[in-house]
Amino acid sequence: MPGKPLIVAIDGPAGAGKSATAREVALRLGVPYLDTGAMYRAVALAAGRAAVALPPDEAGTGRVIELARALRISFAGDATAQRVLLDGADVTDELRTPECSQGASIVSTIPEVRHAMVALQRSLAAATGGVVEGRDIGTVVFPDATLKVFLTAPPEVRARRRHDELARRGIRVRWEDVLADQLERDRRDSTRAHSPLRPAEGAIVLDTGRLTLDEVVARLLELVRRTLTG
Ligand code: C5P
Repeated sequence: MPGKPLIVAIDGPAGAGKSATAREVALRLGVPYLDTGAMYRAVALAAGRAAVALPPDEAGTGRVIELARALRISFAGDATAQRVLLDGADVTDELRTPECSQGASIVSTIPEVRHAMVALQRSLAAATGGVVEGRDIGTVVFPDATLKVFLTAPPEVRARRRHDELARRGIRVRWEDVLADQLERDRRDSTRAHSPLRPAEGAIVLDTGRLTLDEVVARLLELVRRTLTG
C-alpha cells in the first residue's frame, strides 16, 4: 500500500517569507507547490469582475459564494515561475495588487468560501503531496501534515519585504501604506470566527526576521529530514 504523501504545511502572516520559502522547499524536495492565498485572491478578483462591492452586503455575499464554488483555477509552470490561471486565462499579476490582497482577506472570512477552497486544496494536494502555503493549512486543511511550520517576523520587517517585492513587480506604493495594509489584514485574518490565523498544534514556530531565505529553507529541509527519519 502506498504511504501517506509528504505534506509540508507553511502558515503565517503576510510577508513572513512563506511564498519564497515554500517555493524553494518544494523545488528542493521535488514536490508540487500550492499557493492557497492565490485561490482567495482569485475569488476576490472574480468578485471585482462581477462588480460585487467588497465587503459584500447579503446579496453580494451570496454572489461571492456562487463565484467561489464555480471557480476554475489552475496552476501552470514549476514552483519558481508558477502562473495562476482563472478560467484558463493568466491572472498571476492581477492577483498581486494591494486591492486583491485586501479583497482576498475580506472574502476569506466567508465560511462557505473557505469550505469550497479547502475542498479544492485537499483535492489538489492529497494525491501528490506538496508544500502548501496559507493561513489554515496546519490547523484545518492538512492537520496531519508531515511537517507544520508557522513562519513569522516583526511587522516592520514583513512590510519592508512586501514593499520590495511589489517594487520589483513595478507596483509603486508607500512603505507606510504596505505596513497599514498588512496590519489590517493580520487583524482580520487572526480575529475571524472561521479558521483564524494561529499556529497549529505541533507546529514549529520560526521567526524569520533575522534569517536569510537560505537559512530558513535549510532549517525547514532539516526538519523534514528529521521527521521522515524519525
Ligand atoms: O498569502 P496571501 O497574502 O496571498 O493571502 C491573501 C489572503 O487570503 C490572506 O490575507 C488571507 O485573508 C487569505 N488566506 C486565507 N487562508 C489561506 C490563504 C490565504 O484566509 N489558506
